[in-house]
Amino acid sequence: MTRVALLGLPTDQHSSFLRGAAKGPGAIRAAMRSPHAHMIATNGLDMDAVLDDRGDAPLREDAGDFERMVAAAAEAFRDGPAVVLGGDHAVTYPVLAGIAAAGRAPPQIVHIDAHSDLYDDFEGDPLSHASPFARIMERGLAAGLTQLGIRTPNAHLTAQAERFGAKVFSPETHAEGLAALPAGPTYISIDLDGLDPAFAPGVAHHEPGGLTTREVLEVIWKTPGPVIGGDVVELNPDRDIHDMTATLAAKLLKELAARIAADHR
Ligand code: MN
Ligand code: MN
Repeated sequence: MTRVALLGLPTDQHSSFLRGAAKGPGAIRAAMRSPHAHMIATNGLDMDAVLDDRGDAPLREDAGDFERMVAAAAEAFRDGPAVVLGGDHAVTYPVLAGIAAAGRAPPQIVHIDAHSDLYDDFEGDPLSHASPFARIMERGLAAGLTQLGIRTPNAHLTAQAERFGAKVFSPETHAEGLAALPAGPTYISIDLDGLDPAFAPGVAHHEPGGLTTREVLEVIWKTPGPVIGGDVVELNPDRDIHDMTATLAAKLLKELAARIAADHR
């Protein structure tokens, strides 16, 4: 079986509101390995056999981290598929740059989030966690962008979505979004604030009215694929309640890796 590389990117220097997401990879691994947990995904695959944990990239929270993340992602995607743990959502831009550096064709992106993260720049930071998909689309690092769970539109973000040809769906239009999921090699990026804060309180930005756990699992399994990689980002353990968001993130990591492994048998 093809193994799925697992890479942690513990950074939150481009967060706009609260720090804490840098503690995400450690908290997600701890939840996955907790004595209350298990390593079996819903398709029966054992994560001990599937995941090839490469550890965390050696980040320093300085300007050099961008290239460190590109290099770590390129290494993770060099030989096959990979799943990345954030960190804040700023990591997705260097990860897609790393996929290109590994010689892989630009994938479709399926992006779950409360926010479209398409700001041209946010509070003066073009690498902000509110901007990764603007940078990815400008550089042609994705073949297309389909966004689900989006519920914070404004005039600038709507104009940016039109500029980049993004397909944007809110929780109200989620059924249409499922029907519009792209085919072909796909990267799935999961910002935990795309789920309702009732399911995922351990995030910096609470935005009520979000997707359910079941709806996000359905996206993982119904994306036509093949799924070549993905990320789970924006877990903020400082905001979590009884590790429930870390446990959710570990579940999504396992299902994403199991879906990817099933596509690469
Ligand atoms: Mn985001
Ligand atoms: Mn978000």
